[in-house]
Amino acid sequence: MSANTNTLTDSYDVVVIGAGLGGMTAANRLATSGHNVLLLEKHNMLGGYATYFRRGPHIFDVALHAFPVGMAKTFRKYWSADIASRVVQLKRIRFENPQFSLRSTFEAEDFLRILAERFGVPRETGEAFFRQCRSLNFYDDRHLLVRDLFDKFFPDNRPVRRLLLETVAYATGVHLDDPALCYGIVFSNFMQKGTYSLLGGTDRLLVDLRRELEKNGVTIALRTAAEKILFRDGRAAGVRANGRDIAARAVVSNANLKETAFRLAGEEHIPAGLAQDIRDVSLSLSVAQVYIGFKAGTELPDLGDILFTSSEPDFDDRASTAFPPPSRSYSIYYPRHLRPDHDRAEIVASARSRQAEHRKQPSVLGAAT
Ligand SMILES: Cc1cc2nc3c(=O)[nH]c(=O)nc-3n(C[C@H](O)[C@H](O)[C@H](O)COP(=O)(O)OP(=O)(O)OC[C@H]3O[C@@H](n4cnc5c(N)ncnc54)[C@H](O)[C@@H]3O)c2cc1C
Repeated sequence: MSANTNTLTDSYDVVVIGAGLGGMTAANRLATSGHNVLLLEKHNMLGGYATYFRRGPHIFDVALHAFPVGMAKTFRKYWSADIASRVVQLKRIRFENPQFSLRSTFEAEDFLRILAERFGVPRETGEAFFRQCRSLNFYDDRHLLVRDLFDKFFPDNRPVRRLLLETVAYATGVHLDDPALCYGIVFSNFMQKGTYSLLGGTDRLLVDLRRELEKNGVTIALRTAAEKILFRDGRAAGVRANGRDIAARAVVSNANLKETAFRLAGEEHIPAGLAQDIRDVSLSLSVAQVYIGFKAGTELPDLGDILFTSSEPDFDDRASTAFPPPSRSYSIYYPRHLRPDHDRAEIVASARSRQAEHRKQPSVLGAAT
């Protein structure tokens, strides 16, 4: 059910702040468990970063260009088998940089082949590297750094370091001096069982998610910002949204971590140790995107599904997130490929860099049609 602040009731079992993928999933799960749920979203549409926009005949996905296979399990478990069935593998991932030009399916077996054939790495070494990445756990030794991992398995093999690290560094900002755990998790998620996207695109996904939320009785209030989480006797007891107090037995926040802790809740409600931990969290990279739409009838040559490029002669973990960013990724949408009814070709070019290094630069470079 859709609502605005005037049509909301005075209390709900749970208020979920933010309708990104996380907030929508929490709201749906709570509703299917029998709770009366209010989902607040300050924007005028669902999705958060998982969004899209239209320009004339074109449609551009902003995020969700590629994700790990685990997303299919998540959709099946928390949403529906139908949504899960639309998760499809992107098998043509390209790397173009001054050190190598190659294609991969982004699966462990294919990387092992490339490591052996192109870079002379024995199969056992490659397998041991994949095994170690998979086995890294938060309760293990966190002193192992990404640098140690590469020194152990591929000492002095710069192109291999680039092949296995550059895309993760580019996507997450991880450096050689970061804990190997951060790298291992992302690497194992993305570069062992392939990389996937969604048939029908983000526009269809959001229609389907909304339908499920409504079917399960979630009240959705768009253009409704939570201003404050209300507390009683030290426990969250509701929210103030668009100036109105709404009671709840629990509040789930999908808003930014620091915003939730320090603005919505207020530091006085956060245990001191936790507040410091939250302060220490560094927020992720900034992304600049250029959207390119082609005229009707344009058939693109085979550029791959995703193309990773870098102009750096050798991979430098710090330079990969500097501004201007030397690395780019191009997500290529061929006519009728991911959106069977859509006959236009589109490309989304993305470049990332650390926020602090270009905070004064625009966050979107431009859009071209
Ligand atoms: C440009 C870009 C490209 C990406 N590409 C990929 C990709 O290819 N593959 C991949 O796996 N991931 C990708 N990601 C990451 C992925 O999109 C995000 O990790 C994911 O969508 C985050 O979901 P979330 O629910 O955690 O948060 P968000 O999407 O940030 O959702 C938070 C929601 O809370 C709302 N909100 C915040 N404060 C309030 C408030 N006070 N009151 C009400 N509402 C509030 C916001 O408006 C937002 O809708 C990309 C991200 C970006 C930005």
